[in-house]
Amino acid sequence: MKIAKSINRLGTEAVYDIFAETKKLIKQGKKIIDLSLGQSDFKSPNHVVEAAIKALKDGHHGYTLPNGTVECREAVSRKIKNLYNANVGSERIVIMPGGKPTMSFAISFFGEPGGEIVYPDPGFPIYESMIKYTGAKAVPYNLTIKKDFSIDVDSIVSLINENTRLLIINNPHNPSGSLTDKSVIDKLAKGLANFPHVVILSDEIYDRLIFDKKEIPTFFNYPDLYDRLIVLNGWSKTYAMTGWRLGWGVWPENLVEHVFKFCVNNHSCVNTSAQYAAIAALDGPENHLNDMVKEFTERRKLMVDGLISLKGVKCSLPGGSFFAFPNVKDTGMNGEEFTKRCMKEAGVAVVPGTAFGKFGINNVRLNFATSRENISKAIEKIDKYLK
Ligand code: PMP
Repeated sequence: MKIAKSINRLGTEAVYDIFAETKKLIKQGKKIIDLSLGQSDFKSPNHVVEAAIKALKDGHHGYTLPNGTVECREAVSRKIKNLYNANVGSERIVIMPGGKPTMSFAISFFGEPGGEIVYPDPGFPIYESMIKYTGAKAVPYNLTIKKDFSIDVDSIVSLINENTRLLIINNPHNPSGSLTDKSVIDKLAKGLANFPHVVILSDEIYDRLIFDKKEIPTFFNYPDLYDRLIVLNGWSKTYAMTGWRLGWGVWPENLVEHVFKFCVNNHSCVNTSAQYAAIAALDGPENHLNDMVKEFTERRKLMVDGLISLKGVKCSLPGGSFFAFPNVKDTGMNGEEFTKRCMKEAGVAVVPGTAFGKFGINNVRLNFATSRENISKAIEKIDKYLK
């Protein structure tokens, strides 16, 4: 068998190995507190679940258009108008099986040997994986604890050259939970005016999980960039729907036909009943989301206070998402050593920072979208193993 060389360049999400190990250990009867996978312990909202059930009962089980039903795309368009006061026609919106495909499609469209793609490190691992897969040069910009992992405009701009095809921004940020303020994104958008050949992929999947009532720093604020802006978002995090596999992308008009073809070649369409649920989520009440953000605010404090009480652990306060990304260097271990011992000796599953790039070497990621009891217990257990 001779497989394509490009396949060997694909990376992965190490979190799935940890997830599998956690499941195995739990099956063996071990008690593990799982703070690894990036999802919420909240259930999907009831009215959303009901909408999917109703759709199936009503016989909505056929294919839809590959870019999503008109109704679902119109619901996204309405939401974008309501949330960000931006006018985005439904023809520029593509419904996807999750947020992730918008990322892999976008990188596939711009990545090829000779091209360069600029992306965050630490950052969501699929950026680097897909860039390398396409044969493009992967150009990381480093997010550091010194700046609370928020974006430094000058360092990003300094990496752009005539070969740069795509710039990836993720705000709020996985794995650090950092939120880069709108004022900084304003500056970045202004700087990008000097590089009209660079397309922007703005991964805004955590944009509704922002704490302290801060403004959403969305790229929809810059209509001048719309003809080279791809926005990735979806239902996974905002509505606690990770396993439904539902996302949306907003694309420049001239790319929509290519995205359409990719959908046809790849998955034909997104699960039909899920698209009904998607509309219910967007058009329905937001109590569930508000409750979630309120609860995550409490859990964030519990998690960060707990972490900084540990010997050798430093942690900045996440501005969004549900992740804390402490630096563990002063425990005498790097992130990978810390993670292994944490699982073995404390029974707590976390993710090493290197799962998100080489600059995450001294960090680990912990998900605080779990019960307060779990967070307190996990901190207690880690404290014990560090002593
Ligand atoms: N972008 C980021 C930064 C993420 O953390 C994730 C999910 N972990 C995604 C995109 C993909 O989301 P989905 O599960 O909807 O594909």
